[in-house]
Amino acid sequence: MNCLFCGDEIENDPNYSDCRDYYLQSPTIVSYAHCKKCNNLQQNPIPKNIDSFYHAYPIHKKKHPLFSMIRNFVGQSGYCDVKNKFIQGNFVVIDYGCGDGSYLRSLQKNKKLILIGYDKFKSWSTRENETNIIFTSDKFFLKNNFKNKANIITLHHVFEHLPNPAEVMTELRSLLADDGIIYILIPSIESLIASKFKKRWHGLDAPRHLHLVTERGLRIFLAPLGFFITKTEKHYFSNDIPASISSLLFGKFNNIFFYMLLPISILFGWAKIKTTRSIISFEIKKITTDKILRDNLTC
Ligand SMILES: [Zn+2]
Repeated sequence: MNCLFCGDEIENDPNYSDCRDYYLQSPTIVSYAHCKKCNNLQQNPIPKNIDSFYHAYPIHKKKHPLFSMIRNFVGQSGYCDVKNKFIQGNFVVIDYGCGDGSYLRSLQKNKKLILIGYDKFKSWSTRENETNIIFTSDKFFLKNNFKNKANIITLHHVFEHLPNPAEVMTELRSLLADDGIIYILIPSIESLIASKFKKRWHGLDAPRHLHLVTERGLRIFLAPLGFFITKTEKHYFSNDIPASISSLLFGKFNNIFFYMLLPISILFGWAKIKTTRSIISFEIKKITTDKILRDNLTC
């Protein structure tokens, strides 16, 4: 098997062999391989059927309001800040892999926004639409209504779950307006926390995370699909250290321990220590004829 992103050969990584599901304790055990060229870490092989990994996935369940409040406070770190983007007229935001829709709900007050939540899991296809939010699990609905219309498409903690990232990015390209942005947020395999905790790192989330692409890998991967990266930023993720320590000490995610450590982790995050940032975001734009002409003129 070759690297999903740069096409080079991959090599099984002993640090990531026989990885257990520390988070949800499903019985699946998987191994990962590293790409020497782009440093991507991917499952070897990429599993054919991934739906069974999500039976107990909490992101797809109804939440207690207090849990939702805590999650909105800490769990949305690094999410796309739409307020900082130029908003004019009807501004379409598609949250691809919207889960319980909490991100879109946090934008709901802004009436200029047309908010679309897509999630492939059927539990979300039947959910009721809310004020300026449409939820769907129908890709044809997106294709028929939003071709070339999306100003921002967000994939928060979603890209690493995709068994077919090239196919999805091609679909999203057809939805994106020419000056639109795709915003991808993923755990960073090149972070210090990842290198310390290795297979017990919360960001690995085996078996659900199929790959963890690097900036280098993403650049190589995106160019033939007609995209380029305009901005990269690392963020602190409060959940990461408490959940990783829990896996290390207890061999699984321990809820009580996690919530005991979480406030300390949040305070730690306020110190803004760069080396503790373990998630990374990429802003991506379409390569258009205008850009090719501009680049050629400046050469
Ligand atoms: Zn690679």
